[in-house]
Amino acid sequence: MEESVSIVIPVFEEEESLPHLYKAIKAVTEKLNRKYEIVFVDDGSKDGTFKILESIQKKDPNVVVVSFRRNFGQTAAMAAGFEYASGDIVITMDADLQNDPNDIPKLLEKIKDCDVVSGWRKNRQDKFLSRRLPSMMANGLISKVTGVALHDYGCTLKAYRKEVIKNVRLYGEMHRFIPAIASWVGATITEVETTHHARKFGKSKYGISRTIRVILDLITVKFLQSFSTRPIHAFGPGGLVMGALGFFIALYLSFEKIFMGKAIGGRPLLILAVLLIILGVQLVIMGLLGEMLARVYHESQGKPIYTVKKVLGR
Ligand code: UDP
Ligand code: MG
Repeated sequence: MEESVSIVIPVFEEEESLPHLYKAIKAVTEKLNRKYEIVFVDDGSKDGTFKILESIQKKDPNVVVVSFRRNFGQTAAMAAGFEYASGDIVITMDADLQNDPNDIPKLLEKIKDCDVVSGWRKNRQDKFLSRRLPSMMANGLISKVTGVALHDYGCTLKAYRKEVIKNVRLYGEMHRFIPAIASWVGATITEVETTHHARKFGKSKYGISRTIRVILDLITVKFLQSFSTRPIHAFGPGGLVMGALGFFIALYLSFEKIFMGKAIGGRPLLILAVLLIILGVQLVIMGLLGEMLARVYHESQGKPIYTVKKVLGR
């Protein structure tokens, strides 16, 4: 028996696309010869989205609909989809027909020998200035910072093995970083080219301001990757260097004041010394607070600081 598949789709006000999307997915899944389900997550839509999903679900036992009380955002919708998905393989895609369901067999073929397959919209059908350019820069930056090189972090069309997805917790707008997060715990990733269409119905839910949020999320992800079990190593070195520098400047000023009788009250150097000492102490304290938080985080949830692949002989 082939592994079963869950297709997870975040939906926010896509009433016109939905019927076409459902039809296109069905045409593909019916030919797969495996158990499948389609999990639609209605992210608090105010248009007819829920009604349409409801009527689809009534007629099709392979469809699961999760409906949010209000709009929680695409990341939350995807997290809910993962929670309710029961398949061995989870495929995510957009509801706006920009991803093509015909790529699903290709993803399933590829995932046979890896844990994550990431779609790459090589011929992306979006505006250049507001979409493709920021996206190009973001992908370069994310690849560099996370050490996981992908052409298209933003493509929702991706496939994951269940074990990989059940262990990632998503916050903010972090769904695009799942491959990087998964790779840090040892998952293997392949990239495939996928088809991309221009949006026919409705309009995009995002503007250019997303770029800033992506950069902030990247900082968080990177920090958590490198320092979540040793935050004092992130803040401590800077704190010690600044504190020491401030201390020596203050020492020098004290020497001038006490032994040479010079007035130091109006010296810019004095302000610098005070600033450096305060910053230094603050940074070290922040590191210590971080250390305490790290313990709360790991111990309260029974979260180990490592991931085990296999144990032999026990
Ligand atoms: N989406 C969502 N909640 C939101 C915003 C978007 O579930 O708050 C869904 C949306 O319905 C679509 C997908 O996320 O299925 C991607 O959104 P969109 O197409 O607007 O993004 P773009 O393709 O322009 O980057
Ligand atoms: Mg879209």
